[in-house]
Amino acid sequence: MEMKKKTVIVTGGAGFLGSHLCDRFIQEECKVYAIDNLITGNLKNIAHLGKNKDFEFIKHDISKELRFKNKVDYILDFASPASPVDYLNFPIETLQVGSFGTYHMLELAKAKKARFFLASTSEVYGDPEVHPQKEDYWGNVNPIGPRSCYDEAKRFAEAITMAYHRHHKVDTRIIRIFNTYGPRMRINDGRVVPNFIHQALHDKPLTVYGHGNQTRSFCFYSDLVEGIYRLLHGKIHTPVNIGNPREFTILEFAKLVIKMAKTKSKIVYKPLPTDDPKQRKPNIGLAQKHLGWNPKVPLEQGLKETIEWFEKN
Ligand code: UDP
Repeated sequence: MEMKKKTVIVTGGAGFLGSHLCDRFIQEECKVYAIDNLITGNLKNIAHLGKNKDFEFIKHDISKELRFKNKVDYILDFASPASPVDYLNFPIETLQVGSFGTYHMLELAKAKKARFFLASTSEVYGDPEVHPQKEDYWGNVNPIGPRSCYDEAKRFAEAITMAYHRHHKVDTRIIRIFNTYGPRMRINDGRVVPNFIHQALHDKPLTVYGHGNQTRSFCFYSDLVEGIYRLLHGKIHTPVNIGNPREFTILEFAKLVIKMAKTKSKIVYKPLPTDDPKQRKPNIGLAQKHLGWNPKVPLEQGLKETIEWFEKN
């Protein structure tokens, strides 16, 4: 899995996951280009890489064509709003980046004979009727609901990636990312992890939506980055789930945050957003078998690191 001197493009490179990927490829001694239009990304996430001669930031919206002169070995396509609050605020941009953006990066991969890696999502399963979710499940998505801008954009992105793979023989990988958390999430991105931590650190009530009996399974960013790295070098072209299968109800998760943050916060109940998936947990059999990948960081440890990071930042 040697990557020294390879050229890597990370779209969404100033975002939460994209910036951690830039760090990993710089560690691997690659030449890294981070591309971001900064609508939800933040230059602070990559500021520490600024002086590195092998790192370059390009402010660009990949929904528009990118003219890129240099050679490229790998394109990791991580550009998209990814929090429900963000993609509700930017529904058109979310659809554009998932469709036109993915198309432009696939065209670039084809022209440069680069390997293309798509960041897809567990949202392609919608509000799943099969539990845990396995890659061969086709999902239960509302095509016109408020979340559809993200779900359908990512479903289209998977479809066009497979079409380029089959029709143009582009070397492609697709990851389906389940809920991931850690340092560099935006405190106000609206997702449950930053929301609860922010509320706990300010002794404000934690806002549990609905009765809190919906479930999620939380993966620490470092486990995800390792999964991405292995999948990038693996041989599977069809989608692979990467996530932590340990499942919590949101109410259990709220209680854990209260305990870990040692806060006086109570819990308040707020309305459940439309089409909020009732349950979500990855089946990771494919990643275990073909990539030898397993998550290592327990939620308690990852949450501790994340809380400390939010306290400092
Ligand atoms: N949620 C919550 N309180 C919050 C934010 C989110 O109860 O302040 C719930 C949300 O309704 C969902 C789960 O937590 O059931 C995870 O939400 P998130 O926005 O993190 O991501 P999702 O998994 O829905 O994409």
